[in-house]
Amino acid sequence: MAKEYPNGLWIRCDNCSEILYKKTIEKNFFICSKCNYHFRISYKKYIEYLLDNGELEEYDKDLETKNPLNFPQYKEKLIQLQKTLGIKDAYIYGVGKIDNIKVVFGAMDFGFIGGSMGIVVGEKVARSFRLANELNIPIIIICTSGGARMQEGIFSLMQVAKTAMEVGLADRNRIPYISILTNPCYAGVMASFASLGDIIIAEPGAMLGFTGPRVIEETIKQKLPEGFQKAEFLLTHGFVDLVVPRWDLRRTLIRLLNIIWKK
Ligand SMILES: [Zn+2]
Repeated sequence: MAKEYPNGLWIRCDNCSEILYKKTIEKNFFICSKCNYHFRISYKKYIEYLLDNGELEEYDKDLETKNPLNFPQYKEKLIQLQKTLGIKDAYIYGVGKIDNIKVVFGAMDFGFIGGSMGIVVGEKVARSFRLANELNIPIIIICTSGGARMQEGIFSLMQVAKTAMEVGLADRNRIPYISILTNPCYAGVMASFASLGDIIIAEPGAMLGFTGPRVIEETIKQKLPEGFQKAEFLLTHGFVDLVVPRWDLRRTLIRLLNIIWKK
C-alpha cells in the first residue's frame, strides 16, 4: 500500500509519486487521478464494489492451516495476520448477488503472506467451484498472489493441480467462471485457477505471469519487450480477454452475466 502521510489525509502514488488527497482517491476506487495507477485494495473493497449491497454470505470462514511442516515462526505470523486482517487465510468465498444474479464470489488478499496459496487457500478455492457446481450458478474470483506458500512446501504445490481439476469439473457442468486478475498475480496461482477463466479480466497495469521478468531475463540472457507481463501487453497477445478499470468492473460483470447467464 502507498505511503501515507502522518496526518492521514494524504497518500503518495506508488507509480507517479503524486501526493494525493486520500478522500478523493477513496471515492475514485483507489485509482490515482493523475496516472490511473490502481492501488492495491483488500478483499473487503471488492465485495463492496462488486456485489449487490456489498453483501457476501461467507463460507468456511474459520478454516485455518495447522503449519504442517512446523515451519519456524509461521504460526506466529499467521496469528498476527489473522488479528490485523480479520481473515484466517489469504482467500475468502461465499454466495452473493450481482444485478440480482446469484454467484459464487471469491477473493484473495495480497496482504496475507502475499496472497500465497497453501492448503487453506487451495481447499477453499476447490470448495468454491464445488459450491458453484452444486448451486448451478456462475463463479467469479478476484485473483492476486505471489504464488505457492513457501511455508507449506509440497502441500502448497499440490493445490495447483487440485484447483485446476475443480475448474475442469465445473467446466464440464457448463458453470461459467470469470477470473479477475489484479496486481500482481504470479506463479502457482497464475499456473492454476487464475488463468483458467472462461472470461479473463485484468485490471489496468496489473503485472501477471509465471516467473518475474528479472529471472526470465537472467535465464534466457535476452532483453524482454516493453510492457512484458503487463495486463495491456497480455491483452494484445490474446491471454487476457478484457482490461477493465476498477470503477467499471461491476458494470462489466453485470453486462457479461446478463449475456452468459439466465436469471
Ligand atoms: Zn499516480
